Amino acid sequence: MIDTHIHSDTRGLEDLELMAMCLDAVITLAHDPFEMKSIKVWEAHVEKILFNELERAKKVGLNLFVCVGMHPRAIPPEVDEALDKIKNYVKYDNVVGIGEIGLEKATKEEKEVFIKQLMLVEELKLPAVVHTPRRNKEEITKIILDEISTLNLKNKDIVIEHCNKETTKWVLDEGFYVGLTVQPGKLTPLEAVEIVKENKDFANKILLNSDCSSNASDVLAVPRTVLKMKINGIKKEIINKVAHKNAVDLFRLNIE
Ligand SMILES: [Zn+2]
Repeated sequence: MIDTHIHSDTRGLEDLELMAMCLDAVITLAHDPFEMKSIKVWEAHVEKILFNELERAKKVGLNLFVCVGMHPRAIPPEVDEALDKIKNYVKYDNVVGIGEIGLEKATKEEKEVFIKQLMLVEELKLPAVVHTPRRNKEEITKIILDEISTLNLKNKDIVIEHCNKETTKWVLDEGFYVGLTVQPGKLTPLEAVEIVKENKDFANKILLNSDCSSNASDVLAVPRTVLKMKINGIKKEIINKVAHKNAVDLFRLNIE
């Protein structure tokens, strides 16, 4: 099992150990722990997840991969400089994608930074993880899909995160990956099970995650949802895709 979206820097070692006990791997992503008053703050954050988190994960036997990027709630003033830094960060072995990128309020600045990062994703041929907000989810998801469609990207390795029942359909229609986040305030395990059931023909485009952060979270969200899928009669093959195989393929994870 793989948890494709966590923020390990917000959790204690005991949580990382719990995850290590049940998961084959996790992906931790850049997010918004501080107001990014200067590029230095942003760099400190990204380098923390890139280096310190790797060390902490190793201590408890957690297999940790990383995505780097500018979260829409954490854009430093020096955007172009940050884009150059990202090009260097992706050279590290454990970096498997660009994220979280995306939109929170869909301001002009957010859109510009989102588009610049998508262009970089196209250039680097890496997967991208795109955040959608809790507020106005449908409206902002539509804007995100519109923005992406104007770019004519060849790279379809894009995960639209924190989808709900409705946005899942739109994302699958566009040929992108759906990230289902099982966390208080987002989806319950059973809601995720329902979405997987309803879209089982697209099982190779669905990923599960906990998005565990400093908000109320369930670090065992992925194993818990897998258990609920089993109880609800979802086929083993589909469970294996959404909880493991799709993540290995998309992020080209070097694991068994
Ligand atoms: Zn997140």
